[in-house]
Amino acid sequence: MPLPHQRNLTPLFQKNSLLRWITVSAVILGAIGIFAVVWISLLSREYSSAEVDFSHISPNPDAPILGYATINPDEKYAPDYVEGWILPYKGFEDSLMAIRGVTLPMALEITNAIRDHIDFAKIYAHETLRVKFSPDGKQVEAFVYSPNFATFHVLTRDTATGKLRYTYTRLPTETRYRIITGTMEGTLNQSLAKRDDVSTWIRQAVNNSLEGMISFSTDARNGDEYRILVAEEFHGGRRLPGGKVLYAAYRGKVAGFREAFWYQDPEPDSAFTSHYTTEGKALASSGMRLPVDRIRVTSPFGYRIHPVTGRRQMHNGVDYAGAIGDPVYAVAAGTVTFAAMDGPSGKKIVIRHLDGTLTYYLHLSAIGVRVGQSVKSGQIIGRVGNTGLSSGPHLHFGVFDKKQGWQNPLRIKMIAAPTLTGERLERFKAQMRTIREIYEKAADTKVRSI
Ligand SMILES: [Zn+2]
Repeated sequence: MPLPHQRNLTPLFQKNSLLRWITVSAVILGAIGIFAVVWISLLSREYSSAEVDFSHISPNPDAPILGYATINPDEKYAPDYVEGWILPYKGFEDSLMAIRGVTLPMALEITNAIRDHIDFAKIYAHETLRVKFSPDGKQVEAFVYSPNFATFHVLTRDTATGKLRYTYTRLPTETRYRIITGTMEGTLNQSLAKRDDVSTWIRQAVNNSLEGMISFSTDARNGDEYRILVAEEFHGGRRLPGGKVLYAAYRGKVAGFREAFWYQDPEPDSAFTSHYTTEGKALASSGMRLPVDRIRVTSPFGYRIHPVTGRRQMHNGVDYAGAIGDPVYAVAAGTVTFAAMDGPSGKKIVIRHLDGTLTYYLHLSAIGVRVGQSVKSGQIIGRVGNTGLSSGPHLHFGVFDKKQGWQNPLRIKMIAAPTLTGERLERFKAQMRTIREIYEKAADTKVRSI
């Protein structure tokens, strides 16, 4: 039986099936995809805008996608900065260490000064790093990390405290919306990869959203239709890397009609920000939930310089930023096998799950379970803390597989929350209405322009 929303969108499906997408600008959307941007002038003497003219920073609209060769090597800017890049398959510290003149203590100082302000899980290869040294080369005077040509995370040496001080600058951007439509030929990836109007980033986002709606291995057929509303940010006519799939719909011979909407939680980095069905059900149907509500990674899985010991060592989990007392959840059902103080790990909980996987929760301020106890997915088991060898309140979360050893928790499919309820559901419904309006405007503009 067709739902009311199906009727709304059916005509759009038909009238646009032959039209190519165009970008639609100047549509303002309340909470979604909007960056309130302020061109903050940099006040410090060591780092005045006269020294680094941001307008001259080389274009790199697809840093995560394109290679070094696409970064314009001839562009002249900021001659007193030494430039480097985030290296593929290397971490932040390793990439810093690869910059000429950067010593281990410098890399450590920069990383520690910036760790609370950037999400290390969202760093991509080829993003730029710039270092300005003191005249004797013994100290870092300033540092700039630019994930794209409009965003600048800046550290400057504060003359009063002698410490590196953080400031953030983002050039003004506008959000543009466009509709991507197509029919299935082979796999979805193959269908999308053929198109030059779909970036790798958007292709992955489309894949992720539709995969949660349709079982492609069994239910997809050639000729099935998909329809995607994308929001992208532009500065000075150039597209920033990334983008957001606000709406995805699929109409298939076997799959029927499915649609999903983006929900943006007002809490920054909220685990609830994701794609949901019209009923507010999260798309991913299996896997683990997250151990915390806020998903800001301050230290990813892999080799790193330890923030306390200063030594290079394997980090066999992920550190999530948090405040003391924030709830820590069991990521899946299981049995508690350890719940006590454990030296450098601080207050620690270990849970064995049904498939034998172990999950570890370290540095807690409080433990709310005992050994042998069964826990459900999403149950609060403890509180974020700063116990043991820890440089500040955070949750260290580890996943151990009997056969394969420590796993990167970020690579394991996790779901934010199964369903939106209460206030979140109401907010989601309002956002769905806004997205439908944007969609219809984008579709109408397209019709008029032909
Ligand atoms: Zn850790």
